[in-house]
This record gives sequence, structure tokens and C-alpha cells, in this order.
Amino acid sequence: MNPLHIETPLFESQALSIQAGRSVWLKLEALQPPGSFKIRGIGFACQEYARLGATRFISSSGGNAGIAVAYAGRYLAIPVVVVVPETTTERAKNLIQQEGAEIIVHGSSWQEANALAVSMVRESDAFLHPFDHPFIWQGHATMIDEIAHSGMKPDAIVLSVGGGGLLSGVVEGLHRNNWKDIPVIAVETDGADSFAKSVLAGHRIELPAITSLATSLGARQICERAFNWSKEHPIHNVVVSDRVAVSACERFVIDQRIVVEPACGAALAAAYEKVAEIEIFRSILIIVCGGAATSIEQLRQWSNIKI
Ligand SMILES: *Cc1c(COP(=O)(O)O)cnc(C)c1O
Repeated sequence: MNPLHIETPLFESQALSIQAGRSVWLKLEALQPPGSFKIRGIGFACQEYARLGATRFISSSGGNAGIAVAYAGRYLAIPVVVVVPETTTERAKNLIQQEGAEIIVHGSSWQEANALAVSMVRESDAFLHPFDHPFIWQGHATMIDEIAHSGMKPDAIVLSVGGGGLLSGVVEGLHRNNWKDIPVIAVETDGADSFAKSVLAGHRIELPAITSLATSLGARQICERAFNWSKEHPIHNVVVSDRVAVSACERFVIDQRIVVEPACGAALAAAYEKVAEIEIFRSILIIVCGGAATSIEQLRQWSNIKI
């Protein structure tokens, strides 16, 4: 069966290389049809569940994971229900509905929406977790396969971290391509930094609340697989401010003519701000994870208010 994701462009960005003072390569996951890398893991998981006989997909993500499940369901001709909290933006709801999925709005927070979604799961349904499942990591790992096949080998990989599904998939991909020696620079925003705080504490902490506007990074606790990778693979944690993440998005629009969410701007900020953690590397590769939830108007509003 063909995968549901597409092979994305990989190239060296002259604009970002000049900013960062070293070679900066981009893996453009923002160009996946549903707008983010999420379709790699979610698409793989949906195909596996379909093969196992699932007749309905259920998700509780009002963000890029929900959009990816809706997209996968449309391609596989399997109905999708996405339960989202009242706080979900019209834009996100429209994107999910546009893929033909049913939306149920329930509760004031994700916890309540998720509880309803889980309670709806019947025997022939599949529940799609946004980041914490081996299928998700296996699907995300395909982006590293593509990089390895291209013939270029970066000195380090830069990515952003929410619940840690992307990180777990990328590290899995590095290991399955015999690239155990390539370090990962894991970037979060201040107020969504559950990974950096867990590494510092030596155990998985739970943030009391998410206070960053990078909502796609808003997992209060990192998945166990990602935390364990921090002990088995060279990973450097970086935390940037919302302001710096939004500014990176604006600069990326000018440099590469692509709109991404602050969740992705966080990773781009490692190059734009030339963070100390990249200084020892001659070449870095940034996973441009993308995100469909941000419009150019929204970026403009964020940069006009003091954050
Ligand atoms: C989901 C998402 C992330 C974070 O991925 P995790 O697997 O939760 O760590 C980062 N950026 C974007 C655009 C996302 O949609």
C-alpha cells in the first residue's frame, strides 16, 4: 500500500545558512498535504488499523493530528470523528470538516474532549493518539529514511518537541539508518517545555498548565519513549520564548515564502537566533514540521502585541 504522506523537499537554505553562520538544511514537512509532518505517523497508524479491520477512526485533537486523521480517513474511505474542546478555533474546525470528518465540540479543555472521545471507542473503532504510540513513531521515522537516501548526512538535527512523537520517530529513524551518532537539538517554547524540565528533573514531570501560544507543543507531559531516548541518544534541550518563535515564523515567510506555526518557528529560531547549542556543528538539518493552524494575519497580530 502506498503511504499517505508525500516525500518532501530537502535542500540547503542560503538565507538561513547566512543567518546561522553554518550550512542549514531544511526538510520541508510543512508541504505535506494536511500541512504538517503528523500525516507520516498518523497515516501509517491509520493504514495499520484499517488493515486490522477498523471501521471508524476517533481522535480528540483540534490541531494538526486531528486534521491528519481526517485526511487519512478520507483517503482510506473510513469515517472519522474528532472530538474537540470549545476553545478550538473556527479555522481548525473548518480544516477538519473540509476533510469530511464529523466534529463534536465538547468541554472547556482538551481533557474533557478526550474523555468523551475515549468513551466513544467501540470494538471496531481505532483511537488515534497524537504522539504516544509505536505506529506513530514508525511513520515519522520515514522522514529520516528519505534524508538518508538523499546522500546528505547532517552534523545535527533540529526539531521541535510537544508530546515527543516527532522526536521519538526521528531518533527511531536515525537508529534504523545506522545514524546513532547524529545528535538531536530538541526545541520547545517557554511555557510548553515539559521535555527540558523533565530532563533537568531526571524524571517525567507534568506541567501545571501550558502558557505558550505554540499550542501544537502544548503537551503537559512528554511521552515515556521520548524521555527514555534522552538517556539513550545524544539530545540537547533548547527553550526559546514565544516572541522568538513568532519572529522566526515571520522571517521564514520572507526567506522561504512559507507560513508555519510558532510550534515550528521554535525549531527555526535555533538557526535565526544562532543558539549556543548549534555552534559546534558545521551543518544542521531543521525538520520544518509546519502546521496548518496559523494564518499570516494571526502571525501579524501576535507580533503586534507584546508577548
Ligand atoms: C504536533 C506538532 C509538533 C510536536 O510534535 P510532537 O510529536 O507532539 O512532539 C510540532 N509542530 C507541529 C506543527 C505539530 O503539529
